[in-house]
Amino acid sequence: MRICVGALVVCLLVSSSVSAYRTLTDEPELAGADGQAIGWTSWPIELAVFEQAGDLVGGPETYAALEAGIAVWDQSACATGSLAAIGRTPSPAQLGDGRNTVQWVHENWSRYGDRDAVAVTETQYQIKAGRYTLIEADILLNGTLAWHPSMLQQLAGVFAHELGHVLGIVHPCEPNGENGAPRCGPQPMSLMHPLYDPRAFALTGDDDEATCFLYPGGQPRQGAEIEEACAVASPGARASQPIAAIAIFACALLTLRRRRSRR
Ligand SMILES: [Zn+2]
Repeated sequence: MRICVGALVVCLLVSSSVSAYRTLTDEPELAGADGQAIGWTSWPIELAVFEQAGDLVGGPETYAALEAGIAVWDQSACATGSLAAIGRTPSPAQLGDGRNTVQWVHENWSRYGDRDAVAVTETQYQIKAGRYTLIEADILLNGTLAWHPSMLQQLAGVFAHELGHVLGIVHPCEPNGENGAPRCGPQPMSLMHPLYDPRAFALTGDDDEATCFLYPGGQPRQGAEIEEACAVASPGARASQPIAAIAIFACALLTLRRRRSRR
């Protein structure tokens, strides 16, 4: 009987140690990664701000908020120095251009996210020889939304959340349990909670654990550098191949969008 109790205690301890954080590895659509951590293989991840007329917050203010968001992750256990703001860019965000861009979006927001989402981060990852690697991320701010002034003042917090997505962290829960995530409780669990809450702009232990899962030792993910350009297989060329075969033998670029809603 004591053995059974002991086993139960161990089981509970193991269960309680299961992290609340989630990363791209936990996304059902990335099940092919077979549990491998999906992150960047080189640092810093350089982000530039694209400024245009009509932005709800001007370029300098947007840039300052981005820097403040980066400073949040510089306090993390394993992602210090992973992100860098490198100034302005004359080019708008375009996934696939190899640059990480921050931009306000003023029309056709529905292409990116829900109407009331304040921001979206689009990430692009590469699959080659079975290895999943993040290679690009763009942060898009919803310029079609009627932002409350207090939310604009807390733009740094929005950036801090989106930068978590840039690193490869996803929401620990979803309001309706989307994407195989646990259903969210009444209170935000962390900075990476999907709903906007000004009280949740500091890193939590879960966030730290996520950075160390993705970047053990506080370093970019190790592995063979992928030097040549990733040539996407032409449509149909491997249509008859099982997905697993594509992941192993071919090279693919896929994109994900992650949004943050507001309360
Ligand atoms: Zn989010």
